[in-house]
Amino acid sequence: MNKKPKLLISECLCGVSCRYDGKDNYIGKLPLLKEMFDLVPVCPEVLGGLSTPRDPAERQGERICTANGTDVTKEFLIGAQNTLDIAFQNGCNRALMKAKSPSCGYKRIYDGTFSKTYGMVMDAL
Ligand code: SF4
Repeated sequence: MNKKPKLLISECLCGVSCRYDGKDNYIGKLPLLKEMFDLVPVCPEVLGGLSTPRDPAERQGERICTANGTDVTKEFLIGAQNTLDIAFQNGCNRALMKAKSPSCGYKRIYDGTFSKTYGMVMDAL
């Protein structure tokens, strides 16, 4: 029997209510993804020790801050490292991560003004 490839996936896309506002981002294609892949769900913000619900945070330069100015950079860095560790431990070489999120988003995320404005285009690592 062929083993399915592993897919690291943002946990909120799987219907888990781990978003900052206690909601999820369930995607309708999840059953198809489950047929094709062995899913490895992760929520970097929860893995960094943040609670749900939590204040929304955005990247401001090298820091990640909530709208009221609390610096949560440390939690985001811990969450990113824990997510990487899980990806390596599970042999994931593919990932499907939630767009726009300051932790899961890739390339285009909000600009740090909490005005739903895109601003930051990150270089690929
Ligand atoms: S950190 Fe990622 S997985 Fe967690 S709620 Fe935000 S977008 Fe979803």
